[in-house]
Amino acid sequence: MNPPPRADGAALEDAAELFRQARRVVVLTGAGISTPSGIPDFRSEGKGLWSRDEPMDVASLSTFRTHPERFFRWFRPLVGQIFDAQPNGAHRALADLEKAGAAQTIITQNIDMLHQKAGSKHVIEMHGTLKTLSCTRCYKQFDSSEFVRRFIDDGTIPLCQKCSGILKPDVILFGEQLPQAAWFEAQTAARGCDLMVVAGSSLEVLPVAGLPMQAVDRGAHLIVINNSPTYINVRADVVIMDDVATILPELAKRAIHG
Ligand SMILES: [Zn+2]
Repeated sequence: MNPPPRADGAALEDAAELFRQARRVVVLTGAGISTPSGIPDFRSEGKGLWSRDEPMDVASLSTFRTHPERFFRWFRPLVGQIFDAQPNGAHRALADLEKAGAAQTIITQNIDMLHQKAGSKHVIEMHGTLKTLSCTRCYKQFDSSEFVRRFIDDGTIPLCQKCSGILKPDVILFGEQLPQAAWFEAQTAARGCDLMVVAGSSLEVLPVAGLPMQAVDRGAHLIVINNSPTYINVRADVVIMDDVATILPELAKRAIHG
């Protein structure tokens, strides 16, 4: 017997039709879009490397300030994993949709740069990025690539070349404010779209989790593609409970080529 199809073809076709009708599409992505690229979910406990310590504690701003060496020791194996990761079919599908004019904006909760590696241009990073580091003393910003290999190889804590202050990756740690410019831009995009697509996010982290509601409350359609249910599934036009790396390439093909 053949296995059943992984997603209902009708749901895929409904989702593709919503893309074709939409004029402003915003895609909200979370950890689920990067797990097929081998990046463990930053915020779930008990999975992969992140489980060696309590992320809420060690990946917090207060730990970074008081015991930066503890933060960097915990972070070190992850950095290599993230820098070496390659985009998967879901990232590439979103880049294809943008190129074809079928999607305008990605709002991501990820820090892994995989959307950009896949070719997406308009990406709003709600939790910052590992691409750059900033000095905790003089605020000068550096490209991570200058420091990353040495840090991975021998654990050398990155120091500012100007004032020798400790450099902090430009990712949002627990207990840290979201970047205001990104948050404002994300809200404007969510409120102005006519189709919101949630892809690989369980929508558990506020305030980003509230963005789809802002879109739906203003009349936007909603597609949710995620392995597990989200709070907003009841408001969605189409829900596909499946792996984004399987679904998004097929959806993009239908949305772009009819
Ligand atoms: Zn400095």
